[in-house]
Amino acid sequence: MSPNFLSKIVGSFSIPAGENPTVAMMESVFLHHGLDWRYINCEVSPENLADAVKGAKAMGWRGFNLSIPHKVSVIEYLDGLGESAKVIGAVNTVVLRDNQLIGENTDGKGFLKALQEVIDPVGKSVVVFGAGGAARAVTVELALAGASSIEIVNRTRERGQVLVDLLNDKTPTEAKLTLWDHTYALPEHIEIVINVTSIGLFPNVEERLNIDLATLKSSMVIADAITNHPRTHFIKDAESIGCQALDGLGMLVNQGVIALKYWTGENVDPFVMREAVEDAVGLRSER
Ligand code: NDP
Repeated sequence: MSPNFLSKIVGSFSIPAGENPTVAMMESVFLHHGLDWRYINCEVSPENLADAVKGAKAMGWRGFNLSIPHKVSVIEYLDGLGESAKVIGAVNTVVLRDNQLIGENTDGKGFLKALQEVIDPVGKSVVVFGAGGAARAVTVELALAGASSIEIVNRTRERGQVLVDLLNDKTPTEAKLTLWDHTYALPEHIEIVINVTSIGLFPNVEERLNIDLATLKSSMVIADAITNHPRTHFIKDAESIGCQALDGLGMLVNQGVIALKYWTGENVDPFVMREAVEDAVGLRSER
């Protein structure tokens, strides 16, 4: 076979980008499977997003991820949207198909896969803190997977109401909004509690959710989307009372597995990715 020095390129556009461990996870799995692909983490400001998308296409990138704050604003620069991105209204993964940039959303599906490893959401009552892009993805997939009710708890009423309306209009789940302007007490019947706000995200690792910890029950499964540093106060508090707790790395790994399937067509090994990302955020050395 003649040598080929042209690797296939994917990457990420976000700001800030320096704390995003995705590149370590992607590069390790390319190496593990002998895939001649590269993942490039780029810091891109909102003013430069249009040029970055154009540039990626011009340079033959096979796709890219979007993170804060580009998941919604990128849509106007794309050629089309996949089904879940259309319902969610946000894109975290762009795939080049037939020279068209198509927006997909793998965040919610990645979260769901991680959750389903410990609890089946069918018929469950769920509380979700947050109403941003990630919360939209997580709640739409939970609703489509059969959660019976979702209570959105959010600081800003407008943003929360938009998500509640979306869930009530487009999914069979019953959704309601609670404005988060007080210490929130979890209702007793709740079975799954999820933090998809940026509370606890590096460097604000000491930040805590404003909740009454006495209302957290050991029967509740809790999940936090924070990836850096993933051992948040919420995770530690929940574990200390005996809850099953899922950190944000499960969601990160699984959304990456789905994105890599879109880009490369390969089913990659999630364990290799989990180990790489745990190393990248210093979790394994903490143990
Ligand atoms: P957005 O900026 O779109 O939304 C942020 C949300 O957090 C909003 O609901 C906002 O409320 C809320 N929030 C932020 N700060 C506070 C605060 N101090 N008090 C109360 N609420 C607050 O971000 P995303 O939805 O894209 O991301 C949310 C989190 O999920 C981030 O930490 C991100 O890193 C993580 N994430 C993890 C993934 C993974 O794979 N594990 C994938 C994607 C995201 P308001 O509406 O009032 O502003």
